[in-house]
Amino acid sequence: MGPQGYDMDMDPAVPKPQPQSVPADQSQRKVGVFMLEDDPTIASLVQDAVEMQGWQFIHRSTCASAVEALKSLKPDIVLLDVNLPDGEGFSVCEALRRELGLSTLPVIFLTSRGDPTSRLRGFSAGAQDYVTKPFLIQELVARIQAHLAIKDREAALSQELLKTRLHDRVRQDIMDMVVHDLSAPLGTVKLTLDMINSRGLVTDPAYVRYLKSAENSLEYALVMIAGLLDLGSGTVRVETHPLDYPALVQRLQKMFGPQFEIKKVSLVFEVPAAGFRMVSDQTLLFRVLANLISNALKYSPAGGRVLARALQAGTGLRVEVVDGGLGIPAAEKEAIFKKYHRVASGPIPGSGIGLAFCRMACEALNGRIWVEDVLPQGSRFVIELPSL
Ligand code: ADP
Repeated sequence: MGPQGYDMDMDPAVPKPQPQSVPADQSQRKVGVFMLEDDPTIASLVQDAVEMQGWQFIHRSTCASAVEALKSLKPDIVLLDVNLPDGEGFSVCEALRRELGLSTLPVIFLTSRGDPTSRLRGFSAGAQDYVTKPFLIQELVARIQAHLAIKDREAALSQELLKTRLHDRVRQDIMDMVVHDLSAPLGTVKLTLDMINSRGLVTDPAYVRYLKSAENSLEYALVMIAGLLDLGSGTVRVETHPLDYPALVQRLQKMFGPQFEIKKVSLVFEVPAAGFRMVSDQTLLFRVLANLISNALKYSPAGGRVLARALQAGTGLRVEVVDGGLGIPAAEKEAIFKKYHRVASGPIPGSGIGLAFCRMACEALNGRIWVEDVLPQGSRFVIELPSL
């Protein structure tokens, strides 16, 4: 019910609500303010203020007609009185949230019931705000504006989230396609190279070198593709064996030697003390280290140095890949392990999937991976793996 015998008109000391300028792109559609109110004086006061803002005013005076109207109307905000001839405005708010599914539509209660129980009832029915009568019309307009701004921000955020999801989906589809289309021809190249090797078809030392270089590049491409496949499927298969760390280093040296030479970066390995034994997945560890070493080279200046140091840690292994490159800003240290995340200012092209694979693989091996700063400049990627 509306208040009796008090003045709810504008406070002359408070500036009048100013008409809002409607942005050009929104000029087609007016903001809709829906009001459930059985007191015609209050409804008309609010109508004037609302229309002065260039908004559309929609009014109902019973709960039943309000619920009916809200089934088809799409207002931007709802103002609800509580005491109405056919019930309480709380039930309209509840119906709007549950039955009509309008979970994000802002609702403000506008009522003479100012006791704490009623206020709590209003919020638990799903309201965003609760204003008691008598109220200052300027304040009500300001509240409506604030709730509309929040609603716009939330809508923009969820649009952004949707776009990012769509973007990630498209990227994943493209990756899947590329990986699928590359796997078969690269497999044929591998078979061909293996055949040339096993039959000793190339004997000239210069060509043997070229052949080795082609094999190394192919192995690297296959490692990257395997990572993409794992990331795409969201799982990695783990096969445990006793680890042969020196053999793993040999394979990495062979694969990366030429690339490091070309960029004039030195690659130094330190291996665990003799007699070190542990059980893990050698191939998975190889692929993680290949990604880390490849990044260390990519983000190192020419003439730099990359150290891949492995040492026993309890019954497991700790490997550090240290470079003197760009380093990682503090705010990015966790984010770089997320799929597609790249440091924004990074000048070097890449896909942002290598480290996401490394994190997934280390977790599959019950281990951890993180990055630390190196002084005066550079990064130290650390992995710790237990014996499985
Ligand atoms: P990519 O290198 O293909 O972009 P990654 O997932 O391997 O993808 O790395 C994610 C991001 O982390 C990179 O884009 C880069 O910004 C940063 N990063 C990774 N390794 C290094 C490193 N050794 N030094 C500096 N930045 C790095």
